[in-house]
Amino acid sequence: MPVKRGRIGVVRATRDAYNRGQVHFTGRTSLPELPEVETVVRDLRPLLIGRRIASVRASRLSLRLPWSRRWNPALVDRRVERVSRRGKWIVISLEDEHYLVVHLGMTGQLTVVPQQSLLAPHTHLRFNLAGKESQLRFRDVRRFGSASMFAGRAALEEFFQRSALGPEPFDLDRTYWRNKVVQTNRCLKAVLLDQRVVAGVGNIYADEALFAARLAPIQLGRQTAAGEADRLRTAVVTVLRRAIDQRGSSIRDFVGGSGLKGRYQDEFRVYGRMGMPCVRCRAIIERIRLAGRSTHFCPRCQAPGQEPPVAGRGAGV
Ligand SMILES: [Zn+2]
Repeated sequence: MPVKRGRIGVVRATRDAYNRGQVHFTGRTSLPELPEVETVVRDLRPLLIGRRIASVRASRLSLRLPWSRRWNPALVDRRVERVSRRGKWIVISLEDEHYLVVHLGMTGQLTVVPQQSLLAPHTHLRFNLAGKESQLRFRDVRRFGSASMFAGRAALEEFFQRSALGPEPFDLDRTYWRNKVVQTNRCLKAVLLDQRVVAGVGNIYADEALFAARLAPIQLGRQTAAGEADRLRTAVVTVLRRAIDQRGSSIRDFVGGSGLKGRYQDEFRVYGRMGMPCVRCRAIIERIRLAGRSTHFCPRCQAPGQEPPVAGRGAGV
C-alpha cells in the first residue's frame, strides 16, 4: 500500500482499503465523527432549506465514490426540503424524493459561501443556489469523502442497507446494547468503533466515552457486567451531546457548514493527551494500539473494578 505523509500523522491507506474498513492510522489522525457531521447538518439547515439548486459544477478528480454528470440535470431546479444525518452521512432531501448524500471522509468540508468568494483548492463540487447568489461547496483535500445522488426513497434505503449501519447512539435500546456488549469476545473499544453495532462513533469519542464511564478500552465485552454496559451507553450519549454543543472537534480540517470551527478539542480528557496528567487523578495518560487505532486512557481511573462515576459530576471528570 502506498504511504502518504499527512500534515499531522502518517496514513497508510488506499481508497479501496478505506471502503473495506481496513485503513490503518498511525500518529494523530482522526476523521469527522458524529458530532462534527451533526454540526455541519445544523449549520446547513437554515442556509439550504427552501433554496433551489440553479446549477452544478464538478471537478474532474474522482472522490471515493465517483460523481456522475448524469446527476446534474436531475438536481437542477429542485428545492431543498430537509437536511439530516444518518450515521456519518449527510442527507440533503430535495423535491420529488431526490437525495444528495455526502460523506466527509477524512478532510471533507461542506459549506455554503457567497458565489463570488475565492475558490479554495480541492473544491470538487459546486452547487449554485437560486436567489441569494450563494453556493454549496464540497471541498476535500484527501478525497476520501464522497457525494452521490439517489432518485427515490427506495434507492436511498438500499444504499444505507448496503452500508449496514447500526442504530444511532441516541436511539440505542438498552437490551440491544447490553447484548451487543456482553456477548462478544471483542474489547469495548472495538465494539464502540463497529458501525454495524452503533453508527457514528469514531476514535475520539470512543476514547472519551470509555474514560467518562471509567471502563478500560481493552476490557472484553464478555467480561462486562450489564451495569457497566449501561454506564457506557450513558457515557456515549453524554459525550456526544456535549461535543455537539461545542460544534464538534477541529483537529484536522474540520469546519461546520458555515465555515466555523469546533471547540470540543479543548475538552478532551484522554484523546491526544498521552504523557499528560489525568484531569481527575493526575496519573499519566497512556496510549496503546487497540482495534487498529491509537487508544488513550487513564491507567488508574479506567483500571478494572473501578467505582462508577458519581452522578451529577458531569461526564468528563
Ligand atoms: Zn485518572
